[in-house]
Amino acid sequence: MSFPSAPSDRVAELAALLSAPRSLTIITHYNPDGDAMGSSLGLAHVLRAAGHRVQVVVPNTPAPFLNWLPGAEEVLVFDRSKEAGTAALKNAELVLCLDFNRQDRVGQAEEVLRNVPDKVLIDHHQDPEPFARVVFSDTSACATCQMVFDIVSALGLASKISVEAATCLYTGLVTDSGSFRFSSTKPHTMRVAADLMERGVLVERVHGAIMDDNTADRLRLLGFTLSERMQVLPELGVAMFHLSQADLRRFNFAPGDTEGFVNYGLSIRGIRLSAFFMERPDVVKVSLRSKGDLPVDLFCKEHFNGGGHRNAAGGQGNEGPEAAMRKFMEQLPAFLAQYPA
Ligand code: 5GP
Ligand code: MN
Repeated sequence: MSFPSAPSDRVAELAALLSAPRSLTIITHYNPDGDAMGSSLGLAHVLRAAGHRVQVVVPNTPAPFLNWLPGAEEVLVFDRSKEAGTAALKNAELVLCLDFNRQDRVGQAEEVLRNVPDKVLIDHHQDPEPFARVVFSDTSACATCQMVFDIVSALGLASKISVEAATCLYTGLVTDSGSFRFSSTKPHTMRVAADLMERGVLVERVHGAIMDDNTADRLRLLGFTLSERMQVLPELGVAMFHLSQADLRRFNFAPGDTEGFVNYGLSIRGIRLSAFFMERPDVVKVSLRSKGDLPVDLFCKEHFNGGGHRNAAGGQGNEGPEAAMRKFMEQLPAFLAQYPA
C-alpha cells in the first residue's frame, strides 16, 4: 500500500522527533467529532505502544455517542480541567494537533496552544494556518484518521496498530466519509478500512455504536426540524433549516443531538446545497453541505467567519438567526451563479 498523506521529508522529521521515548500531548478541535476523537485516540494508542507517554486533550466534552471509543475515558477535557489541560500542553515535549487547521479551533485552549513551541499538525482541512513545525496537510484525505494510518505506517509503526487503535481510526473513516459515501471516499480509503478490519475491528459494532445511539428526544427533534423548520427552494436547489433556543429546549437538547441534521437537506432530489442555522446562547452556528463542485467552505469563509471543506463547512453569525438567514439568502444567488449546476 502507498501512503499518500505521508510525504517522506515530513515523515523523516517526525521520526527524528520521536526517535527516543517522549512525553507527548495530542489535542483536537472544539466539539470533537468522530474523526477528531478517532484520530487522537488512535494515534495515542499507537504512540504509547511505541514507548511514548501520551495525553489526549479535547477542548470540551465530546458527544456521548463517542464515549465507547477505546481510551475515551482517559481524555482531559480542557474547559473542565483547565489546570491539568494547561499543564499537559505546556509540559509536553511535542504537541500533536489533529483534525483542525487554525489555532482558534481549540476553544479556551487557544492561548496556551499558541505558546507551545513545538507542534506537529495532521489535518485534512483547507488552508492550514502555518503554526506548526511539521505540517501534514492533505485536503484530499477523507479523514484525519486516514492520514494517521498513512503516517504511522510510513513511520514503520503499523505493527503497533492494535485492535483498539484500529477501532478508533476506523470510526473516523466512517463518520467523516458519511459511511464511505462522500466523494472524498477513495480506493485508498477502502484499503485502509480493509487493513483496519483485518486487525480485528468489529465493523457492525462500530457502525451500530455510531448510528444506533439516538435518544427518543433526538429523533423527535429531527422529526420536528424536518416537518416544521425546513424550507426548500427547488428553483435554487437549496434546502435550509433553523432551530431556536426555544426549539432546542422543547426537545431537551443535548450536545451532539443536531449532528448530521444538515445532511437530510442534501437527500432531497435536486438539492445541491443544504444549510442549517442553530441558535446558540452567544452566536448562531451555521453549517453548510453541498454536492459536486459547490465550495461551501469559501462561502463560510467570506460570510460567516468560518471554513471547512468544499462540501462540508461551518461558521457563525453574530447578529441573531434572522440576520444570519437574511445574509445567507442575499449572498446565495451570486454564489450559486458562479458554480452552475
Ligand atoms: P459542521 O457543520 O459539522 O460544524 O462542520 C463542518 C466542517 O466545517 C468541519 O470540517 C469543520 O471543521 C468546519 N467548520 C465548522 N465550523 C467552523 C468554523 O467556525 N470555522 C472553521 N474554520 N471551520 C469550521
Ligand atoms: Mn475530520
